[in-house]
Amino acid sequence: AIEVIEDKPEDLVERAPIVTVMGHVDHGKTSLLDNIRKENVIAGESGGITQHIGAYGVQLDNGQKIAFLDTPGHEAFTAMRARGAQVTDIAIIVIAADDDIMPQTKEAISHAQAAGVPIIFAINKIDRPTANPEKIKERLASMNLLVEDWGGKIQSQDISAKQGTGVKELLEKVLLEAELLELKANPNKRAAGTVVEAFLDKGRGYVSTILVQSGTLKIGDYVLAGRNSGKIKAMQDERGQEVKVAGPSTPVSILGLDGAPQAGDKFNVFDDEREARQIATKRTQLQREQSVRTQRH
Ligand code: GDP
Repeated sequence: AIEVIEDKPEDLVERAPIVTVMGHVDHGKTSLLDNIRKENVIAGESGGITQHIGAYGVQLDNGQKIAFLDTPGHEAFTAMRARGAQVTDIAIIVIAADDDIMPQTKEAISHAQAAGVPIIFAINKIDRPTANPEKIKERLASMNLLVEDWGGKIQSQDISAKQGTGVKELLEKVLLEAELLELKANPNKRAAGTVVEAFLDKGRGYVSTILVQSGTLKIGDYVLAGRNSGKIKAMQDERGQEVKVAGPSTPVSILGLDGAPQAGDKFNVFDDEREARQIATKRTQLQREQSVRTQRH
């Protein structure tokens, strides 16, 4: 029932890159995401503190945009990939300059490579006296990962997520990489994309953060997301401000689904509310049958 219509080249417009931050534990993923959010996402007039909604969009001084998945670590990345969701365009891999290439660094690199996602290395904690970014680049070279300083093609940026050093330059490198990828999407159709996270909010009901990947999502649209469905009652951006439409590469939290879909579930907009609900019900039934079967075995 989900129709696949080829986009005409003239319908495709440039879209912002979608970025995931990965790396070894304690190397500074959260600090980097927090710094970027703090510097670029201003709280809405109504709210004070911006809510963590699993993804946020930033707009740089030159007007260009980047969408970040605010769930550090490759667990989220692999969970989404396991569900067939190809969300990330570019992976930032954070490596602490006072440490080494650690097991989870290697895992993050292989996950990005397996997904065919270009990597940018953020060599972090350069404010520390024991930081040795050159050693990290040398270790990468020995793994056949040549950064630009070493005559290779992989971009890298020395940063201090804590002090904000180099973060602006890192974002510029993300945009440079995005330019090479020529990312495009058709905004003039019913929206489709991926669920980033969802939870039950006391008072507001089920809140789902979704990333629109193609088309434009509107209030009043009938949405099917995994085993849940519903009519969109309200949408908010990362500042907690109400929005009426969300185009490609835009993360929004939506109200109106009848449950919490899982991270990595795809969502689609339907013309007909009943059709969306029927598919959701069918998926729930199938899931139940499957779990009964696995319990018997
Ligand atoms: P994550 O596990 O990769 O998300 O790492 P965190 O962002 O939680 O950082 C782990 C620890 O390193 C925290 O204590 C941070 O304050 C610290 N840290 C992160 N970035 C920097 C940095 O640029 N400089 C210094 N000195 N400490 C940092």
